[in-house]
Amino acid sequence: MSANGKCIIFSAPSGAGKTTIVHALLNARIGLEFSISACSRDSRPNEINGKDYHFLGIQGFKERIDAGAFVEWEEVYTNNYYGTLKSEVERIWKNDKAVIFDVDVVGGLNLKKIFGEDALAIFVQPPSYEELEKRLRYRSTESEDKIRQRMAKANTELSRASEFDHVLINADLDMAIENAKKLVTHFIQA
Ligand code: 5GP
Repeated sequence: MSANGKCIIFSAPSGAGKTTIVHALLNARIGLEFSISACSRDSRPNEINGKDYHFLGIQGFKERIDAGAFVEWEEVYTNNYYGTLKSEVERIWKNDKAVIFDVDVVGGLNLKKIFGEDALAIFVQPPSYEELEKRLRYRSTESEDKIRQRMAKANTELSRASEFDHVLINADLDMAIENAKKLVTHFIQA
């Protein structure tokens, strides 16, 4: 089996559980490797530079834009830039693995446009808007202001679910992970 040249895109509103699902897929050792995005924000206490993100700061991020280093990039929140580095995709394909992306909804749809049939784009849907807000508050990594920003963005994002190849409902996490494993394995092996 060769995963070379394929990619899996996971997008969702912030708090829907996509990062947890992506980590579970990586731990399942089914031939995936995580595309470490670059971002301009500071790291959170539990995050490691070069593992969770390449934390570039605003200036470093803008230098990479000018150098043409990104497959896609976006100002996901005001003054908060995120992007997929070309070097990440190349590194992973060279390892004969499929790339797995954890990106926001607009970024996910852009990646799908770029990689076409070589990409499987999965939208992780929370059971409801209220549940999403509960999860964001429970996680408590963000200030009230940031939670509001994320909830406002979630409305638009939820309306774009049907543009993805699959909508994965995350009401029960174990079940969502199992379903994700099946979808991804089937796509990689095809
Ligand atoms: P957080 O700050 O919570 O880690 O991430 C904020 C949002 O940015 C999440 O929805 C995350 O998926 C998204 N994101 C992370 N990396 C990228 C990327 O490379 N490109 C885009 N477009 N969005 C990203």
